[in-house]
Amino acid sequence: MSKDYYQILGVPEDASAEDVKRAYRELAKKYHPDRNKGDAAAEKRFKEVGEAYDVLKDPQKRKQYDTIRRYGGNYDPSGGGPGGGYTWTRNFGGGRRGADPRDIFGGGFGGLGDIFGDLFGRAGGRTAQRERGAAGQDITLTVAVDFELAAKGGKIKVSVPTNAQCQTCRGSGGAPGSSWADCPDCDGSGKLTDSQGGFGISRTCPRCLGRGVVPERPCPDCHGTGRAPSDTRIAVTIPAGITESQKIRLSGRGEPGSGGAPPGDLYVKVRVKPHPRYTRKGADVHTVEEIPLTTAVLGGEVCTPTIHGEVCVKVPPGSQPGTKLRLKRKGIHVEHSGRTGDHYVELQIKLPDKLTQEQRRKFTTFAKSLDE
Ligand SMILES: [Zn+2]
Ligand SMILES: [Zn+2]
Repeated sequence: MSKDYYQILGVPEDASAEDVKRAYRELAKKYHPDRNKGDAAAEKRFKEVGEAYDVLKDPQKRKQYDTIRRYGGNYDPSGGGPGGGYTWTRNFGGGRRGADPRDIFGGGFGGLGDIFGDLFGRAGGRTAQRERGAAGQDITLTVAVDFELAAKGGKIKVSVPTNAQCQTCRGSGGAPGSSWADCPDCDGSGKLTDSQGGFGISRTCPRCLGRGVVPERPCPDCHGTGRAPSDTRIAVTIPAGITESQKIRLSGRGEPGSGGAPPGDLYVKVRVKPHPRYTRKGADVHTVEEIPLTTAVLGGEVCTPTIHGEVCVKVPPGSQPGTKLRLKRKGIHVEHSGRTGDHYVELQIKLPDKLTQEQRRKFTTFAKSLDE
């Protein structure tokens, strides 16, 4: 990698198009030849900045450049050639673009069969695959579900932004027919060891993504990653009684592994949307209903929605505000514990705010009777 365009513009790898543009404008102004007359260094910087911006402003070029930057090839900003503006030479002893890889490897690259065996599981055992490949990443998705769906359970569809295997290279990352060589960064082990405070910490080799081998020509469709981005719609069964932040695990539905390694898992994390009428306490559901003063005093009936439909219940005479009436087993049936909760309706009492003369007279009589 001759030039680091991100470094030249002083922006991070994940800088937005806006940030790239802003950084470029600032630097271009700073090093503009009009402001730096006769300054050769400034002129050189000005050109570099322009070159870097030219690549990073174009999403297509930037993507190619990122791949090359990641895997360590040489980027040729002039483009050209059927593979687009890059070459893949660093791994192969400085081989030139267009050189026939057979010239480099000759017929003596005897390890190739073994490498393929491990990589694609044709000959290699499971252990060998594990050593070569990298297990897929887990994916966690947060999904908002309606109160009643969380309470009663059901199916939802989620869109999983998964990187499915690239069809062109079947996940290998190499162009069809490409030769392979041991990864020079990790010497074919697929792992790099960083030493931190005297401890050796092992991580997956970023160059070969843990495969241990690198293609002479990367797959043109996935730029060597072996993955094709895609959105998969997956039906997820929400068990009845699921609570906020609970996770549903779908084994093997995460990102695919590379080199025959197992895929990751998909975790669907549930966020329960609030309901205008219901509140939930464990498996119990609560509602609040207003009843007239007379019902509270003399008794009567109150009706309330429950997750199982409307239910009417007797209000005993002399019910106080805040009284909670229990509707047995009208709450949530929690699938994983088998417990069924109750529904509670809390009574609020509506006091008359305007009385007719007649009503006023009767209330006064009533009030007097309390003193007797
Ligand atoms: Zn490697
Ligand atoms: Zn591919």
